[in-house]
Amino acid sequence: MDNNDFPILHQKVNDEDLVYLDNAATTQKPKQVIEAMEKFYYNDNANVHRGVHTLAERSTEQFEDARQKVQKFINAKSTKEIIFTKGTTDSLNMVAQSFGENIHEGDEIVISIMEHHSNLIPWQQLAIKKHATLKYIELTDDGQLDMSQAKSLINDRTKIVSVAHVSNVLGVINPVKELAKLAHKHGAVMVVDGAQSTPHMPIDVQDMDCDFFAFSGHKMLSETGIGVLYGKEKLLEKMTPVEYGGEMIEFVKKFSTTFNDLPWKFEAGTPNIAGAISLGFAIDYLNGIGMQNIFDYEQKIVSYVLPKLLAIDGIEVYGPKDPKLHTAVISFNLLGLHPHDLATGLDMEGVAVRAGHHCAQPLMTYLGLSATARASFYFYNSLEDADRLVGAIRATKEFFK
Ligand code: PLP
Repeated sequence: MDNNDFPILHQKVNDEDLVYLDNAATTQKPKQVIEAMEKFYYNDNANVHRGVHTLAERSTEQFEDARQKVQKFINAKSTKEIIFTKGTTDSLNMVAQSFGENIHEGDEIVISIMEHHSNLIPWQQLAIKKHATLKYIELTDDGQLDMSQAKSLINDRTKIVSVAHVSNVLGVINPVKELAKLAHKHGAVMVVDGAQSTPHMPIDVQDMDCDFFAFSGHKMLSETGIGVLYGKEKLLEKMTPVEYGGEMIEFVKKFSTTFNDLPWKFEAGTPNIAGAISLGFAIDYLNGIGMQNIFDYEQKIVSYVLPKLLAIDGIEVYGPKDPKLHTAVISFNLLGLHPHDLATGLDMEGVAVRAGHHCAQPLMTYLGLSATARASFYFYNSLEDADRLVGAIRATKEFFK
């Protein structure tokens, strides 16, 4: 796919053409999003929902338009179900704190061992505070979520099941629709961390039948500091806000307050207006390509690169080896080489990957690792980029021999 809309990609790093493969951390922004931001700040910037002047109206209209775009993008029933947050972390903390009020001693929360810390610590801390039990679904031998274990862990004491749609380490796509069915059978709610799926595949929250769904704008072409919490209206209606202040109120008296309607009840203070608008433009851009096309194209990249990586002597690739179970997020190590050295070696070749624990320390411990290198592709990467990765790994291996 064409990457001419991404000027940042056309530069040299260490005298080599840059190959940016750190998209699971954050994605680059197309000209269309950057220019839309510039246009907003040059012409329309004002606070939202407050003023009656023209700029305030323009700003509010664009902000609420962005909400509508998000609603359609994930097929939510209503814009009342779309809360703008700072990102996935903020969204998941909001659910844990607000819906978490329903958790009591003896209740159970089920997550998976492959969770990012953002979908782990909020539940761990909630369990500690409420004297509830936190349980982990582990992996099958081929790196998938162990659904037979999930069936035995989720029971009538389970109140919350919260799992990543796609793992930021293993790249594996989890059967969240099946998990939602299982959770509902036992009266639990299903929370989905969509940080690594929303940028790469069509999302339909109604079809998935999850109760909450979280994602970040910066992983799908928009600015940092903007994200979304989707929640079913009937649940959000009953939940109390976790932050208080301007915007989220209906009427304030000296000793009591009534709260605003959904979704503003959960949006205290001045929101990231430009961020939300940039997310709207990012969605326009992604829709212009088509999410199914993006998914199919990235499948082509995984099918191409995975066997080439596996053919490198001394490489260990984590997660499923079947490209069909994968998004284009691939974690690996080279025997005898620290992943930071590997990533530094790749950077010398102009190839940007991430190395570390990827905010998934319990998964690292489970796999008996301290860190991995991770290459993560997006639609603007090419098969040539995949070849550059493989070549750079081979060159780094030679260098450290
Ligand atoms: N969940 C997953 C699976 C992620 O990959 C990430 C970010 O890497 C997050 C949550 C947290 O996202 P953010 O830092 O945008 O809040």
